[in-house]
Amino acid sequence: MKIALNAISEEKIQHTFFIDEQSFEKMLTEKPSSFSLQEASLECSLSKIGERVYISGNINAEFLVECSRCLTLTTAMASDTFTYVFIPVPERWENDVELSAEELDVVFYHGDIIDLTDIIIEQINLLVPLRILCRDDCKGLCPLCGKNRNEESCSCEASLGIGGFAGLKDFKIKSKS
Ligand SMILES: [Zn+2]
Ligand SMILES: [Zn+2]
Repeated sequence: MKIALNAISEEKIQHTFFIDEQSFEKMLTEKPSSFSLQEASLECSLSKIGERVYISGNINAEFLVECSRCLTLTTAMASDTFTYVFIPVPERWENDVELSAEELDVVFYHGDIIDLTDIIIEQINLLVPLRILCRDDCKGLCPLCGKNRNEESCSCEASLGIGGFAGLKDFKIKSKS
């Protein structure tokens, strides 16, 4: 996911990167626990003005994430746009690196290589859906026996009487005093 600086000029160039599960995991030091990436594509345009490299584009990704209710692995698609500016690592940090407000997404580059790995990881992490249902009417897991109620019914609620957990309402914790 690297581009040589001298391949970028004032004229915009287009690049598309494809990332699959294996190549994404290679970018990471630790495998994510809450999702796996199926595939992602990143279309971007790059241009260079002075020492600054501007990159903007869009990312589309397909994830496998656990359903928030029943924990079944579910496919989820997501996409977004992004803009970054790459500037050379300052030789000394005392040097004022003036960054205006609209350039907050600043990435430093070293030498003559633009490395997109970190922004790809960042974009993919931003896209991971936080809450997803395997289907709109997912019934979730039974809190008592843990069965997936989409797949099989259990008799837990029935054994507690009508109203589900109503039988627990008189439950009191005895203090030791
Ligand atoms: Zn579900
Ligand atoms: Zn149950």
